[in-house]
Amino acid sequence: MNKGKCIVLSAPSGSGKTTLAKRLLKNDSLSLAFSVSATSRKPRSHEQEGKDYFFLSPLAFQEKILQNDFIEYEEVYPTIFYGTLRSEVERLWKLGKHVIFDIDVEGGLNIKKLFPNQTITIFIQPPSLEALKERLIKRKTESKKSLEMRLSKAEKEMMLATKFDHIVENDTLEDADVELQQLVSQFIVS
Ligand code: 5GP
Repeated sequence: MNKGKCIVLSAPSGSGKTTLAKRLLKNDSLSLAFSVSATSRKPRSHEQEGKDYFFLSPLAFQEKILQNDFIEYEEVYPTIFYGTLRSEVERLWKLGKHVIFDIDVEGGLNIKKLFPNQTITIFIQPPSLEALKERLIKRKTESKKSLEMRLSKAEKEMMLATKFDHIVENDTLEDADVELQQLVSQFIVS
């Protein structure tokens, strides 16, 4: 199959990577499409099935693992699984799209290992852990326990940032957006 390119955006939860990914997708000249992941977590109130995630029961997720349906998956938080479906990536490549992955650090690095010559990995760095905590609290999507889990994971993820091809600091959204659009446009024509 004629494979498109892979644009991996990884960052701690709350770093603004989903917003940045949405901005990239609006740039029609880039021919990008979003890889919708599967997850065993419950949907948030604004999230839609098949658009934000494919929401699976923990059992259905395990079945897909056994059937080798994922090109990568991770237990991102204890007992909560996320994974990239092979069928989703192949569908988007068939449409002639380059695929954006909004996935965790380990998953992002695994995509690079799988498709080394056609992948760019970009780490979106929040200005500080403190700023990240503030953003997550403002977002009001997390319980106290989930907030703690996300912050503890964020600390570990930030230590892996140097393994990425590029680090984009998301201090102001506008600047991060400009830098990201440039990196991705250059990569796509390369
Ligand atoms: P959230 O629950 O905030 O939507 O996502 C939590 C974390 O899971 C984020 O870091 C997100 O990027 C990551 N994630 C989402 N989809 C995938 C996936 O398919 N694979 C992996 N490894 N991580 C994912």
